[in-house]
Amino acid sequence: MQGEIEGILGEAQAALKKAKTHEAIEAVRVEYLGKKGKVSLILKTMGQMPESDRREFGLKANQVRDLIDKMLEEASNTFQQVQRSAFLEESIDVSLPGNGRPMGFEHPLAQMSRELLEAFTSLGFEIAHGPEIEHDFYNFEALNIPKDHPAREMQDTFYIAPEVVLRTQTSPVQIRTMIAQREPPIRIASPGRVYRRDQDVTHSPIFHQIELLYVDRNVSFADLKGTLTIFIEQIFGKGAKMRMRPSYFPFTEPSAEVDMSCFACDQKGCRLCKGSGWIEILGSGMVDPEVLKAAQLDPEKVSGFAVGMGVERLAMLKYGINDIRYFYENELRFLSQF
Ligand SMILES: [Zn+2]
Repeated sequence: MQGEIEGILGEAQAALKKAKTHEAIEAVRVEYLGKKGKVSLILKTMGQMPESDRREFGLKANQVRDLIDKMLEEASNTFQQVQRSAFLEESIDVSLPGNGRPMGFEHPLAQMSRELLEAFTSLGFEIAHGPEIEHDFYNFEALNIPKDHPAREMQDTFYIAPEVVLRTQTSPVQIRTMIAQREPPIRIASPGRVYRRDQDVTHSPIFHQIELLYVDRNVSFADLKGTLTIFIEQIFGKGAKMRMRPSYFPFTEPSAEVDMSCFACDQKGCRLCKGSGWIEILGSGMVDPEVLKAAQLDPEKVSGFAVGMGVERLAMLKYGINDIRYFYENELRFLSQF
């Protein structure tokens, strides 16, 4: 009997070695530990044994049952592990190159705006924002452009209501800031979208401007020129030269268009600068006393300068783009060049 039960252990061990599936392992369990399994059957024969052998045999049989149970448990764990690693091997090949995600990048206009604002904030200007839907007072009246003024025709306007417009320029932020802050020094750079009824290769109904305003006691034309000289060098490099030409804007007096030396031809004359060696880049001037009065400041006590520039225009010059519409079409082949 003793030999028989050890034989069962050996058999079970050998059977489990061959069992490679969950079903095969379960079959071994039933064959040995099931109700009619080999271990159960042999335990039933205990009744026919002499009293003196029963105890020892019982102990042995229980040991064998526990051992087979443990072996089944181990075989089952091993099988699960094998299955899991086979699955992982199949689904993940760590030697393959990964699926890279393309990195996002700034739109060329956002890039240009950021560079300009960085230059201005480094010169002590604070960034100020204003609404894009603007009252006639801030967009025109306070900027010295009364209703019958011909300058209104220079900026073809989208009207939302008789006195409400989509702002045609960032200049209304000047008025809003002066009225809100009251006490000079006032030193702001105001970026944002502006709207005009206008569309061709260099004009878009929506475009971006940055406005500069500096108001304090004794601000002079020399301050304006000094600020612009430093700014142009920061954006276009050390060798960039500038010149000012007399011009007219209703909200500045005197007013000046600002040109910079043509970087494409080194001032020898090319298509970009139309042979002149100079490129117009922005408008500027001393804040008109009427504008200061409209913003409740005293032109006898304070003075200031203002500068306005088109972000698209500067980006087109800097990157050599000849059609403004490329900026808005969201064509990746165009955008990914910047
Ligand atoms: Zn040129």
